[in-house]
Amino acid sequence: MRTVAVTKIGSLRDPDEASRGRVGVVDFPDQPLGPEDVRIRVGYAAICGSDPHLAEGFFGTDVPIGLGHELSGIVEALGERAHRNGLRVGQHVAGNFLRFCGTCNPCRDGKQQFCENIRDYNRPGMAESVTWHESQVFPLPEEVSLLKGCLLEPTSVAVRIADKTRVRVGDRVLVCGGGPIGQLSLQVMKMHGATSLTMIEPIADRRAMALRHGACHAIDPLLEDQAALADEITHGRGYDVVIDASGSPHAVRGLLDLAARGGTVVYGAMYPQTFEMPLNLSDYLYLKELTLTGAFISPYAFPRALQVLPHLEVDELLQGVFALEDAVEAFAAHVAGTFPKVVIRCNDVDDSAP
Ligand SMILES: [Zn+2]
Ligand SMILES: [Zn+2]
Repeated sequence: MRTVAVTKIGSLRDPDEASRGRVGVVDFPDQPLGPEDVRIRVGYAAICGSDPHLAEGFFGTDVPIGLGHELSGIVEALGERAHRNGLRVGQHVAGNFLRFCGTCNPCRDGKQQFCENIRDYNRPGMAESVTWHESQVFPLPEEVSLLKGCLLEPTSVAVRIADKTRVRVGDRVLVCGGGPIGQLSLQVMKMHGATSLTMIEPIADRRAMALRHGACHAIDPLLEDQAALADEITHGRGYDVVIDASGSPHAVRGLLDLAARGGTVVYGAMYPQTFEMPLNLSDYLYLKELTLTGAFISPYAFPRALQVLPHLEVDELLQGVFALEDAVEAFAAHVAGTFPKVVIRCNDVDDSAP
C-alpha cells in the first residue's frame, strides 16, 4: 500500500541537501482489520505543520516513518462488530488518528490525551487506505465534502484550544500565526463571541485571509509595533485571551506582554524540543496572574468539531491539492509556504455526497 513517509531524518528546510530530511512514497504492508475496525479508502490527507517536526525525529528516528493524521475517506470494509455506531460501507468519514483505550488510568481519569496505549492505532493515513478502530471514525455531515472533511482533525485542535482558553463572550482575543490552526482558531473564537479579534502574522495574504473571515485587526509583527497597536486596539487593557498558533520561538515571548492582567495564554502549537522561553515569574505569574497552558492533542473535541466544521469558511485552505505520487512536490510546497495548507489526494474518489 502506497504511503507517504519520512525516509531520511533531518530538517526539511536544511539548505544543505546532504543533511536535509527527506519524504517519499513507500510501500507499507496493509494494516490488519480487527473485529471492531474500519478500513477507510483515503480521499484526502492534509500536510500538518507538525509533519516537518516528525521529519526532524521528534517522535523517533526509525525510518520510514509513515505520515498523515488529517484525513477523510470512504468506508471500504467493516470488522464484524464495527456496526455499533451505524457505520456502513460507502459512508464518507473523517476522524481522530488516535484511539484512546478507555482502560488505562489517564483514560479512566478523563484525561484521554495522556492515554498510555495511544500508539496502538496511530497509523499513517497519507496512504491509499487506513484502518482505524470504530471509536475513531465519525461520519461527515452531508454538506461537508470529502475535501473539506480532511480538516476535521485540525478543527478539533481549534476546538480544544478554545476549550483551554476558557473564553467568555466579549473577551478580547488575539491569535498569533495565520497558518491553518491559527485561521481555524480565529473562526472558532469568533463563534465564541470574541471581540477586538486580532491576528498577528507576517505574511500579508494570511493577514488578509484572517480579515476576510472574522478578524477585526491584523498586525504585521515584522514591520509594525505590535505592542503599541495591541495597546491601541484594547485601550491599554491587553487581550483577555492570547493563542499562539505560530510555534515560532521568535514570536512566543512577546505574547506575554500583549495579554491582559489575569489573562490566559494558550501555546497551542508544537515547539522545537530544545527551545526554552525565558519567563519572569514575578512579572507575569505573580503581578500579572497570567494562566499559561498548551494543547497536546484533542480528546473530547471531535463531536463538536463536526458541529462547527460546516460553518467554517475554509475554501482558501483547500487550494493546494497534489496527487499521492507528487508527495515530494507537495511537501516542497508546504515548506515553501506556497499554499496556506497543502492537501494530498490519496485516491481518485467521487467527492459528491454518498
Ligand atoms: Zn495536524
Ligand atoms: Zn488509555
